[in-house]
Amino acid sequence: MINPLRGMKDLTFEESQRFEHIVNMASTIAKRYGYGYIETPILEETALFKRSVGESSDIVGKEMYQFIDKGDNDVCMRPEGTAGVVRAFISAKLDRQPVKQKFFYYGPMFRYEKPQKGRLREFHQFGCESFGEASVYEDFTMITMISQIFDALGIGYELKINSLGCVECMPPYRQNLVSFLSEINNELCEDCNRRIVTNPIRVLDCKNEKCQFHLVTSPKLLNNLCECCDSDFIELNKLLTKAGIKYTIDTNLVRGLDYYNKTAFEFVSNEIGAQSAIAGGGRYDKLVEFLDGKPTPAIGFALGIERIMELVKMPEIKREGYYMGAMVPEAIPALMTLAARKRLTDKVTVEFSSKGFKSHMKGVDKAYPQYAVLIGEDELKNGTLWVKNLETNEERTIAIDEF
Ligand SMILES: [Zn+2]
Ligand SMILES: [Zn+2]
Repeated sequence: MINPLRGMKDLTFEESQRFEHIVNMASTIAKRYGYGYIETPILEETALFKRSVGESSDIVGKEMYQFIDKGDNDVCMRPEGTAGVVRAFISAKLDRQPVKQKFFYYGPMFRYEKPQKGRLREFHQFGCESFGEASVYEDFTMITMISQIFDALGIGYELKINSLGCVECMPPYRQNLVSFLSEINNELCEDCNRRIVTNPIRVLDCKNEKCQFHLVTSPKLLNNLCECCDSDFIELNKLLTKAGIKYTIDTNLVRGLDYYNKTAFEFVSNEIGAQSAIAGGGRYDKLVEFLDGKPTPAIGFALGIERIMELVKMPEIKREGYYMGAMVPEAIPALMTLAARKRLTDKVTVEFSSKGFKSHMKGVDKAYPQYAVLIGEDELKNGTLWVKNLETNEERTIAIDEF
């Protein structure tokens, strides 16, 4: 017997319905906000992720599903969705058009990590990327959209926001931070000490409690933003408050790559054990340029479908469509024609073996139909159908042409 690979799983029955419900709901809402569906390849050149996700990240450093294909190309199964969408945006030369572009996607992502609970090697994300809009209203609009998605799915969340500054205010802050960190480096963990050199901003989100204790007094970027970043962040706070979207400011919410700037946000849930992120995103105004496109402001987010599957409240299943069966074998061909016609507009389940009335009615609820439709000897002779509405229990006999 062949089993799925380690860290990969099939989604069937109840789980696949949860998956489908989340994707349908998120896509429907994204479309209302002007996002159009984009499908990009799962396999891309490894260089794309090395450049966009960053060589110093764990994803690229340790977790890439990378291999050399038969044509000697260094390729990689996408570990996240943004890089491919940005690459597609540039490949289609959309960066040279003045139009604003908004895309949503969903699908599998791959990371070669040690499989454990809540961490698969193949997992799924839904995400949106908006290109060409620099206004902070777009940041607010995206956060509103995500909160609507979670509301529609019946999921409680906490929102955290931060500003990562820009090319003007981030570099002087970074220098400031490095001098602070260098003074307390004996108190910090090994990872932090390495990051002081490679990626000092990432020190701020170290999960080590001792590190966090010593970081309380660290300089904060929010107090050192340039005028433009500062007024945008204040505006975002005002808009969220006015819209009744609860949030907290988390100065440790960082991303640590140079093309991320200004707004960063994370939606977390307390309902699956320890607080865990269910969606995250922010501005990346320099990424298009970084991947050789024309400078284009952009913002995006992704949500983790597997985590949300654990939290989603499924809507009540409603009776739908028809169950059709025959009580004499000669009536079965007639059912075939009727079912095909009805399927142009409705869901139909057909029982292929003829059986008695009681037998049919016993099995009818498997398909949870609204109507049971049966043909017996009399019906076949008279050109009629016996129809029962399973919601109201009303029964009647109708001419086949009426069906
Ligand atoms: Zn700034
Ligand atoms: Zn640390």
